[in-house]
Amino acid sequence: MNEKYTSILNKINNKAILIAVSKFRSETEIMELYHQGQRHFGENKVQELVLKYEALPKDIQWHFIGNLQRNKVKYIAPFIHCIHSVENEQLASEINKQAQKYNRKIPCLIQFHIAEETTKQGFLYSDLCLILQKNILQQYTNITWKGIMAMASNTDNTAQIRNEFQTLRIYFNELKNTFFKTEQSFNEISMGMSNDYEIALNEGATMLRIGSLLFN
Ligand SMILES: *Cc1c(COP(=O)(O)O)cnc(C)c1O
Repeated sequence: MNEKYTSILNKINNKAILIAVSKFRSETEIMELYHQGQRHFGENKVQELVLKYEALPKDIQWHFIGNLQRNKVKYIAPFIHCIHSVENEQLASEINKQAQKYNRKIPCLIQFHIAEETTKQGFLYSDLCLILQKNILQQYTNITWKGIMAMASNTDNTAQIRNEFQTLRIYFNELKNTFFKTEQSFNEISMGMSNDYEIALNEGATMLRIGSLLFN
């Protein structure tokens, strides 16, 4: 029985989906949460994800949350539940191509760069708008655009984190009211990790990606 799991679920109180980030965690640790009812799990390495997918129950919904190399999309395309980390056009094009092969529509989120660290991935808002104006992402009929994702800065400054999440929320609203007006499924804001999930929840997150707090 993982007590932290129950206490986090209580805090979330059905306001968002909890994605248990199981990178580096064993199949036994994943199964412990599975037996408590958890079905959404997140991984950031293709090879590790594929091994876990093969070994674990098939009703687990796997989320890809890391830097995804184009040449590895094919390994997860048959089964991935949602890709959170679409951060350039070329990656979107490859996901679309692989999804077509498996005759499915893959749910995806557009990743933004909002943090101060330059090492984090993602689109800048202005760049994304230029791409959307050219109808580039919308033409990928084997992708369902579900919303957006980002990581906040790694800082103790909660005001800054809140500010970054608010910015993301504004981006989401603007996109939903312009480029994704007719896209019924554009509803998700994936933000908030172990250190900042309560702030994210307050600022309108619909998906939280929590690892260390759950498993340590
Ligand atoms: C590892 C990771 C998380 C979870 O981080 P914790 O601080 O362990 O909760 C969330 N999102 C992404 C993109 C990650 O790589």
